[in-house]
Amino acid sequence: MTGSSLEKGHEADVVVVGLGTAGSAVSAFLAEGGLRVLALDRRPLDEAGARWVNGVPQWMFRESGVAQPEAPELRGNGQPFHLVCGLGPSRVVLRDTGLLEVDMRHLVARLQERARLAGARLLGEVTVTGREGSALQTSAGIIESAYVIDASGLGGSGLVPPTSPGPDHLCAAAQGVYEVTDLEAAQAYMARHQVEPGDTLCFTGIAGGFSILNVRLHDGRLSVLTGSIPGQGHPSGKSILDSFVAEQAWVGARVFGGARAIPLSRPVDRLVEGNVALLGDAARQVFTVHGSGIGIGMIAARTLANTLLAGDPLDAYGYRWMRSFGALQGTYEVFRRFTAELSVDEIRDLVDTGLMNAQTAGPTLAQRWPSPSLSGWLRSLIGAVRRPRLAARLVAVGSRMAVVRGLYGRYPRDPGELGAWSRKIERALPL
Ligand SMILES: Cc1cc2nc3c(=O)[nH]c(=O)nc-3n(C[C@H](O)[C@H](O)[C@H](O)COP(=O)(O)OP(=O)(O)OC[C@H]3O[C@@H](n4cnc5c(N)ncnc54)[C@H](O)[C@@H]3O)c2cc1C
Repeated sequence: MTGSSLEKGHEADVVVVGLGTAGSAVSAFLAEGGLRVLALDRRPLDEAGARWVNGVPQWMFRESGVAQPEAPELRGNGQPFHLVCGLGPSRVVLRDTGLLEVDMRHLVARLQERARLAGARLLGEVTVTGREGSALQTSAGIIESAYVIDASGLGGSGLVPPTSPGPDHLCAAAQGVYEVTDLEAAQAYMARHQVEPGDTLCFTGIAGGFSILNVRLHDGRLSVLTGSIPGQGHPSGKSILDSFVAEQAWVGARVFGGARAIPLSRPVDRLVEGNVALLGDAARQVFTVHGSGIGIGMIAARTLANTLLAGDPLDAYGYRWMRSFGALQGTYEVFRRFTAELSVDEIRDLVDTGLMNAQTAGPTLAQRWPSPSLSGWLRSLIGAVRRPRLAARLVAVGSRMAVVRGLYGRYPRDPGELGAWSRKIERALPL
């Protein structure tokens, strides 16, 4: 449903601002729990949220209570992932990744429909412009509600002070699905890079340590995903993507896709301001190592909904989430900052020596805590003997990660102690 019809003095238990994945998921969970939910998006509903293909680990659907996607929403399921250093040939191949390739246009529509069926009221083309106490100002009039959930994405809706991190912590990403005009040439390209059709070929370090150019041939079409940190002097994901497409004569017209910035820092330290809770990109709830916000945003939506449905104070959402997934995200930020500094030769060294291998890299792709795999760490140990300096840097990163993890375990229940906690986290993260 689009349109901006809103009765005068409309009231709701919860108003959700933004109907991307995070906002749509929380609207569904809350309405299913019996709350009166009014959810708004400034765009038409069928244009809300991400409009491209995202990789989301299967376990995150289970954890958040969202059914696994099926075709046409599902475009890939656990295919091998070739993490190539620069343009090759060194690589780590991750198998049984559990990573689902999801057409976000369908996932957003599915979550919106689930919310609607549970009784939530969804309105498109309504912009939230501010609030005064419990009164929310919108382009369709004032709305009274007990709680507001701000799931308005990285730009925010102005309900709380801006939460976007600095340019050093912003990934400029682009993704597109393209027609393939010459399938044989496309297959030859994949074969040249020793990749089976359907596998993901991911060139990393092509524009700074954090960057990727990720291509996948599927059902006669090509998916391209790029990302980089322009704030560190690199070309944007969109320009990497455009150059790649222009250089490959076999890539045809774009079918769908988009480009946007993704926050790569830890989540905002304060998830709750009065009766407003931040959710999704608006809260910087993104797995920092590769800028993935879909799974984490849906899980945060579940935590937030459970808190409200249990009748617990809104602040409980803050510390519950921070002590679990906030800790995961914050801890991995140390690693993400390290990778951003790496040159492509250093990435190659990590891979060629075995310091980085499938067992140690797998959990990062799956957005899990580092794995205790003995064989993986043994290979790393052998690599450490061959490259002691690089290994020493990795050990320093690991010990800093342990400190940050410990601090998240002590995320304060009392919001009054948050200032002191934030200062400790700032000191623990590398510059
Ligand atoms: C190219 C690209 C590739 C990506 N790849 C991956 C990936 O592989 N895996 C992954 O997990 N993540 C990926 N991400 C990140 C992921 O897309 C985001 O983290 C996710 O979409 C954030 O969802 P959200 O619901 O928090 O916010 P959004 O999707 O940004 O939705 C916010 C909504 O709020 C609305 N809104 C904003 N302001 C207002 C207002 N004032 N009033 C009313 N409505 C408002 C907007 O119109 C929008 O619809 C990628 C991102 C990009 C750009």
